[in-house]
Amino acid sequence: MSVRDPRTTKLPLQAKSPFELRVNLGRGIPESEVRAALAAGDMGFLHSFTTGSTVDGPGVRIVAWTTGCQFRCLYCHNPDTWTMSNGIPVTLSKATEELRKYRSGLKVMSGGFTLSGGEPLMQDRFAVKLFTAAQAMEIHTALDTNGSLGDRLTDSELKKIDLVLLDIKHTDPERHRQLTGMEPGPVLDFARRLATLKRPVWVRFVLVPGWTDDVECVGQIARFAASLGNVERVDVLPFHQMGRFKWKELRLDYKLTDVEPPSSEAVEQACAQFRAEGLKAY
Ligand code: SF4
Repeated sequence: MSVRDPRTTKLPLQAKSPFELRVNLGRGIPESEVRAALAAGDMGFLHSFTTGSTVDGPGVRIVAWTTGCQFRCLYCHNPDTWTMSNGIPVTLSKATEELRKYRSGLKVMSGGFTLSGGEPLMQDRFAVKLFTAAQAMEIHTALDTNGSLGDRLTDSELKKIDLVLLDIKHTDPERHRQLTGMEPGPVLDFARRLATLKRPVWVRFVLVPGWTDDVECVGQIARFAASLGNVERVDVLPFHQMGRFKWKELRLDYKLTDVEPPSSEAVEQACAQFRAEGLKAY
């Protein structure tokens, strides 16, 4: 893999989809500059912008995919977003300009802006500033997060985000560690805090055969989500193999090669468990 000078890369910020493999686009920027930019939030690292999404929040959305993630989910379909320096360094004003281009269209399509990743709260100051800029343009905002860094945002910052798409991957600590490399506690604490603040949440749950599809696992997440009182809907996302090539290209050890996507019956059964707890599930 070649190392590009991030200041001269010709790769466009717009991508057809987040499944484009992108690496090393921010390498070469001095560490001190990166730290200062992240602390101030005046610059962020983005894998790409994509437009026209109908699965990352209400309506039709523009999505900014950040780089940097502390999880290592076995099923991650964008492992090139794990490393922050794989992203394109983007100033706040440039990112804001991208949003401005779509402002009228997003309104017409009852859509908005979603910040996803990677884990967007690895760049929490940039996230807050970009959401603030979006809201100043009256664009609906959504944060798609693994939830483990929620304590980086103050209550008033959280209240400014219109919707949180919260990934809940497993509630069992041991299985969560095996699946993601991280503890579930901070994620569940963040979910409870959002509930206390009465912030709208959509739960996202990836159904992975052999990992998260047993009745007990789905039931635990369904009961937890229902207990919160602020979960507007649950998206059951079937595991797929579209990111497998990235693991190969990045020479990462992909452990789910032999795992088939769940059947439509299995997805429907998981949805039914969420619905049985009084939640809307799709
Ligand atoms: S939290 Fe998301 S980006 Fe991070 S490893 Fe898991 S699936 Fe990938």
